[in-house]
Amino acid sequence: MFSDKMPLLESDREAVTILSSFLPDKIFDSHAHLFDTALLPELCKGKPHVVKGLEGYREEMAPLLNFPRTLSLNIIPFPDGAMVDRTCGLIEKSDAFVLGELAKDEGNVCELLVHPDDTPEELEARLVSPRIRGFKCYHNIGRTRPSWNAPIGDYLPESAWQVADKKGLVITLHMVRDDALADPINLSYIEAMAKRYPNATLILAHCARAFASWTGVESAHKIAHLDNVWVDFSGVCESPAMFQFLKKLGVEKCLWGSDYPVCRSRGKAISLGRAFYWIYQNDLDNFTGKTALSHYLIGAENLLAVRQAFIMAELGEAAVEDFFYNNAMRLFRQK
Ligand SMILES: [Zn+2]
Repeated sequence: MFSDKMPLLESDREAVTILSSFLPDKIFDSHAHLFDTALLPELCKGKPHVVKGLEGYREEMAPLLNFPRTLSLNIIPFPDGAMVDRTCGLIEKSDAFVLGELAKDEGNVCELLVHPDDTPEELEARLVSPRIRGFKCYHNIGRTRPSWNAPIGDYLPESAWQVADKKGLVITLHMVRDDALADPINLSYIEAMAKRYPNATLILAHCARAFASWTGVESAHKIAHLDNVWVDFSGVCESPAMFQFLKKLGVEKCLWGSDYPVCRSRGKAISLGRAFYWIYQNDLDNFTGKTALSHYLIGAENLLAVRQAFIMAELGEAAVEDFFYNNAMRLFRQK
């Protein structure tokens, strides 16, 4: 994920050929993490120092997206567990890094990381650019250890909702707990907060984290009535949950995101039993030689699944353009 290069193989080119008639020429990536591994001490300890800013992102993503005429993004800082210690200075440094990247192109927007102890005043003081359009929370910057079972309020402070509501901002949420949106604790939190803060928009990342597709398939309808709850399709590599969100929420509340740099790895997230499994390079190495499998980048797997969902939902070119660009313009450009 944090390697220096994202190698595009012949197999990925094969995927891009399949995608070429599907991908529009204007793309807004609503979920992309630019990164500096020096700011990720827990994740990248002992690994070579790599920085991927806007130039690196564009160089790597343009070929995968069939060289769109416009490629803009919502820059989301990469969270690291060390940031849970607010005094370590990493969140401030992460703000500085993201704002530096934001300054390079006025077509882009960004989000800032939130910590559970942040006050509304502290968050507002960090909104130093009108192109800071939201907040990113993550379970590893939260009150619970281990964090995989944490309720959302443990890592998404109410202060973020208050400021997002006041300023019309978004919150990108990658929820945890095994059953994701099918978990009643997660669902009741989302409903209550979306109603309490109607001017904030909640983006449920990864199809409401439906890597286990049943969680999205069986729950999408439960959030359809909440106008300010959207989903992004980043990272997910299977079409059933995507199809269901398109159908139940409507394409107008769905966004595309790459989850860069996750999309740079080779593999696929698959539903397995009631849970999910990330197939990575080491699993693929076991397959090699046994079958003639094509190994795609996660980014290619994601886009192929998106294409499949649009085919199943019988959505045409205009819907594809809304999904990849116009919806994001509507959401991130609003004042
Ligand atoms: Zn992400």
